Amino acid sequence: MSILIFLDKADGHIRKSSLEAASYGAAIAAQTGTVAEAIVLGTITEDLSVMGKYGISKVYTVDDAVLDELDAQVYTKILAQVAAATSATVIVFSNNLVAKAVAPRLSVRLKAGLVTGAVALPATSNGFVVKKNVFSGKAFANVSIDTAVKIITLNTNTFSYSIGNGAAEVVPFAATIDVANVKVTATNKIVGEVSLTEADIVVSGGRGLKGPENWALVTDLAKLLGAATACSRPVADIHWRPHHEHVGQTGIAIAPNLYIAIGISGAIQHLAGVNRSKTIVVINKDPEAPFFKAADYGIVGDAFEVMPKIIEAVRELKSH
Ligand SMILES: Cc1cc2nc3c(=O)[nH]c(=O)nc-3n(C[C@H](O)[C@H](O)[C@H](O)COP(=O)(O)OP(=O)(O)OC[C@H]3O[C@@H](n4cnc5c(N)ncnc54)[C@H](O)[C@@H]3O)c2cc1C
Repeated sequence: MSILIFLDKADGHIRKSSLEAASYGAAIAAQTGTVAEAIVLGTITEDLSVMGKYGISKVYTVDDAVLDELDAQVYTKILAQVAAATSATVIVFSNNLVAKAVAPRLSVRLKAGLVTGAVALPATSNGFVVKKNVFSGKAFANVSIDTAVKIITLNTNTFSYSIGNGAAEVVPFAATIDVANVKVTATNKIVGEVSLTEADIVVSGGRGLKGPENWALVTDLAKLLGAATACSRPVADIHWRPHHEHVGQTGIAIAPNLYIAIGISGAIQHLAGVNRSKTIVVINKDPEAPFFKAADYGIVGDAFEVMPKIIEAVRELKSH
């Protein structure tokens, strides 16, 4: 019996969200008296024994470059093999695009109950009950899983991890790798930007900024804070900003420690993608803007007057 954690990677390194998933899996293992093991697919350039610091005893690797690009069907079949070999009873993913493609397929293949978007450790004293967000983060549901194998995808930035001293054993896994049905012919990677889904701080702009020529108010602050940039949907729709920055119900869902919203009204569809942020700061000239209801801190004011002052103050602070 084991808890199996799928470790996701970017450019050969384990993602921060996977470290959360690893610690979460290790905590379930401690709770249920079993061990936490992990699996990594594709080329990895870092020393995986460090996963021991997050409570993982063994990391299985399938070090084949063919797995550097996600093919959900191929990934699913390999994970099913690893799950069987390790007698995994709980499989944990970070709730991201890879998990969205792979976890439901694995769930069907293993006849395993699946809960997506978990926000807390499962309650295991009476059955196996997982708490998750529902209705775009407006409510919680407690979902009971009663299958032998259980799959959980963990929302990012909901489980804080501590770093210990252990070292994980790294073990190559001899998987049967299917020939992929799809072939990636070109990849356009965005380089040099802080990843929106992994960022601690996100600075975001809306239609209140009037046009793309004013975006330095967002990007200058983001640069100073080491933050990622985001925008509301209409801003992406009218091509002021690229679509990969669009957050919300129909865009990317994020949960940074700090979300700064400038000239964004706070429509429910926008909030659906950002309301899991730990602290929300809203800058809007309309005191009735709905976003203020969700804000931890708010500035009622014209962004064109407020933002240069904030940027100057942060620059001043950083110069010391
Ligand atoms: C099915 C569906 C899905 C959707 N999905 C999404 C989604 O995923 N993400 C998303 O963002 N939206 C989504 N929307 C759109 C959403 O309903 C809103 O229309 C959108 O979020 C509004 O964007 P905005 O706040 O930038 O613009 P606006 O609604 O135009 O608001 C601009 C804000 O800027 C303020 N402002 C104006 N000038 C200034 C100034 N000088 N200084 C400071 N503040 C100023 C105004 O007071 C106002 O509050 C969706 C809509 C539908 C129907």
